Amino acid sequence: MINLNYPHFPFTREVLIEKVQEKISDKRFQHVLRVEKKALELAEKYQLDFEKVSIAALVHDYAKEVSDEEFQQIIKEKHLDQDLLKWSNAIWHGVVGQYVIEKELGISDKEILQAVNHHTTGSKNMSDLDKVIYVADFIEDGRDFPGVNEARESANRSLDEGVLFETKHTLLYLINKQSPIHPKTLETYNYYVANKRDI
Ligand code: GDP
Ligand code: FE
Ligand code: FE
Repeated sequence: MINLNYPHFPFTREVLIEKVQEKISDKRFQHVLRVEKKALELAEKYQLDFEKVSIAALVHDYAKEVSDEEFQQIIKEKHLDQDLLKWSNAIWHGVVGQYVIEKELGISDKEILQAVNHHTTGSKNMSDLDKVIYVADFIEDGRDFPGVNEARESANRSLDEGVLFETKHTLLYLINKQSPIHPKTLETYNYYVANKRDI
């Protein structure tokens, strides 16, 4: 298994894993462990800090089973953009979930919280950490959908290619089932498609 210390954080990986495991179903917990594995592979390839990558991956879906009522309350209490109230768990567990993670796990690292914030919709302002979590979530070893191998190949060429492929795929999927597209998802697509020639 992974032998990874967190020298800059006041908790060990083992303790963090226990807290995540208590908060979500076993099925989702297994997904989270696979996202961490994939994210660490990408971190090695693209030379990112293993500590932050591991923590961000382990917490990225921490808030996925939080109730709608709790998310709505946080949006109001924290005076977040009230347009958020129009969305649902799919968007809230990242964008609002970062506050749950901060409060319950005591994680205040802005880079980690931003990676959680951006992990579902992406953003035009993604750090490499954000990109690694966004992409690892999509291509972890348990994912099995038409196109997943192409997604993995894209991520092996560059993080930006991985982000663009995933965003395009997610948009097509959402449009096919007539789901509303969050403005950040469109922002991510437009930004990465415009930069395609640089990829
Ligand atoms: P997961 O939490 O590991 O399942 O993965 P994600 O956090 O990446 O995605 C959660 C869900 O949000 C998935 O079903 C995505 O298809 C969906 N999603 C991503 N972007 C959007 C969007 O712009 N609008 C809507 N309605 N759903 C989205
Ligand atoms: Fe998620
Ligand atoms: Fe996930």
